[in-house]
Amino acid sequence: MLNIVLFGPPGAGKGTQSLNLMEKYSLVHLSTGDILRGEVSAKTELGLKAKALMDTGNLVPDEIVIGMINNKLEDNKSAKGFIFDGFPRTQAQAEALDDLLKEKSTSISKMLALAVNDAELIKRLLLRGKDSGRADDANEEIITNRINNYNNQTAPLIDFYKAQNKFVAIDGVGSLEEISGRLSEAIDA
Ligand code: AMP
Repeated sequence: MLNIVLFGPPGAGKGTQSLNLMEKYSLVHLSTGDILRGEVSAKTELGLKAKALMDTGNLVPDEIVIGMINNKLEDNKSAKGFIFDGFPRTQAQAEALDDLLKEKSTSISKMLALAVNDAELIKRLLLRGKDSGRADDANEEIITNRINNYNNQTAPLIDFYKAQNKFVAIDGVGSLEEISGRLSEAIDA
């Protein structure tokens, strides 16, 4: 199986690039942000709990997202592989993902980390906010909170995957085609 963690700060282009990779390598795309937004629009109990945290750019509790990923892995038993987008975001999530994949006799193949500077991230997210309708893209204060949460809680996972020799840094600035080319090159290497 080919299991990719597509990593990077908010606005790095993980969602857009995931769609490309999903098609090219026939992978199942699992975005915890998309799944959570589905729960919010369906007004489920989980969605109602998560909404306030999401709207202010804070992480939802680990056990919620780990449970969601577990369900999706179970639902896709015959998948050729997965692309994890926006997950894991904490050390506990990364450890849980390793355990879940191990139970299925597989593992993460690579962690591809898109690098984009903060000024560019803020610019991209404010632009996206004009059409996305996402409360967490709407103002610079919330966007900065998301970037700070990424730096404090999520960026340390780079060391977690470096220790497993799975970390690959990818320049996330350029055209969509340039960036998808860099990602494919890293996967095929
Ligand atoms: P995203 O679409 O990946 O930017 O996620 C949007 C929001 O959903 C985040 O700011 C968090 O509130 C929540 N979220 C998504 N994925 C996770 C995760 N793996 N752990 C905790 N919260 C998450």
